[in-house]
Amino acid sequence: MAPRVMVLPLPEQGHVTPLMELSHRLVDHGMEVTFVCTERTHALILGGLGHRTNGYEALGGIQLVAIPDGLADGDDRRDISKSLAGLSWSIRGHVEELIRATKVKWLVADATVVGMCYEVAKKLAVRIACFSPMPAAYLGTLLRIPELIADGFFDDNGIPKRQGAFLLAPNTPPLYTAHVPWGVAGGPEVQLTFFQNASRNAQAARLADMVLCNTFHDAEAVAFELYPEILPIGPLFADGKTVGQFLPEDTRCIKWLDAHADNSVVYAAFGSTTVFDPSQIQELAEGLELAGRPFLWVVRPDFSSGFGGLRKAWFDEFENRTAGKGMVVSWCAQQQVLAHRAVGCFLTHCGWHSVLEALRNGVPMLCWPYFFDHFTIRSYISDVWRTGLAMSPGEDGAISKEEVSTMVERVITDHVIGERARILGDAACRSLAKGGSSYENFQKFVNILKATL
Ligand code: UDP
Repeated sequence: MAPRVMVLPLPEQGHVTPLMELSHRLVDHGMEVTFVCTERTHALILGGLGHRTNGYEALGGIQLVAIPDGLADGDDRRDISKSLAGLSWSIRGHVEELIRATKVKWLVADATVVGMCYEVAKKLAVRIACFSPMPAAYLGTLLRIPELIADGFFDDNGIPKRQGAFLLAPNTPPLYTAHVPWGVAGGPEVQLTFFQNASRNAQAARLADMVLCNTFHDAEAVAFELYPEILPIGPLFADGKTVGQFLPEDTRCIKWLDAHADNSVVYAAFGSTTVFDPSQIQELAEGLELAGRPFLWVVRPDFSSGFGGLRKAWFDEFENRTAGKGMVVSWCAQQQVLAHRAVGCFLTHCGWHSVLEALRNGVPMLCWPYFFDHFTIRSYISDVWRTGLAMSPGEDGAISKEEVSTMVERVITDHVIGERARILGDAACRSLAKGGSSYENFQKFVNILKATL
């Protein structure tokens, strides 16, 4: 029987995707994978697969297992603080049951949940690989929470004692005290819960048998000097496999891209959880129109809570007006889109996975960060790698249509940025090829797994 590994993502799209990609690679190396999700996420993945029985075939032999999420029936599962609290108290028992049932010897746990199940895994003599879907620079600062407290950045409850962006080392993105994982809206109590969770995760990650990160050496060379315990194995990608999309992909856009010239299309997408207010969406739409370039824009059904009444009418009118020039889809096969020769730039919320996908394909980026590590990632793109530009909000915090249009034009016509993006993309591909650093690190991980399973 093939050795089995349990994989535990945070049950959100941006975490499920890279951990699915990692799981496929483990299966390719002869391992069995039990992929554990909450019931809601499990249902979304099966829905995305067209409800094919249990997903085992479609996922190339990855076994999906659903666990309850610790919330009551009527609770809002899109409220991330509630979801985290539900998982926090319930996950441990379910993981224990599953470990006993499957007899796994290794748990690959997402760095955002690893603290919740570290003790139970250790109690059952299961080894832990902590996997980070965040940049190594961001993960590294989390691993150093006690030092950041000692250095006076935060008090013992994670409240920032200094406000702003602090450079911890040259050629790294700064630490933004407002954009740490516990820097959430919702008042001091919610912040404290998030801080305690982050501290618990950091402690578990420090004690884990391995710390893996979806990144590569050349993208974050300084971070690996500062945090040598982090092993880069990325950028992971789907490689044509199914990765558990929650929403059905609109495949028309690939044909649409086929009809466009090389590097001519602006691709705009903001990941799986960002929500914009209606006036910002209108400004963005008009900015894309004003730019006068062909655009492909992902507008998820829940991108705004304000699509209704007049605004819906406005959006329909916008779509009709721009029909010859632009295409709006609810979800697409983004990895395929970013690999398409017609895409000339990517307007992004700076989600790490989206950015790695663009980076691997040498696509220049325009940064519109939303929360948490997005600000760190923006600094990488616009200041460290210089493979893209940062958008500037006005005094009201909103980004104007003029800014969208001007910056689109700047980034898509800047050949120096384009060349840097291409060079970094080549480095990413080299790291994944036989003999490359991410390739070798993954091999090392697999060898350790095989020796200890
Ligand atoms: N994505 C996709 N189709 C879309 C938009 C996004 O497949 O239309 C995928 C994208 O390829 C990426 C993930 O959704 O793998 C988003 O992850 P990311 O870390 O960028 O952002 P998050 O959703 O966590 O904010």
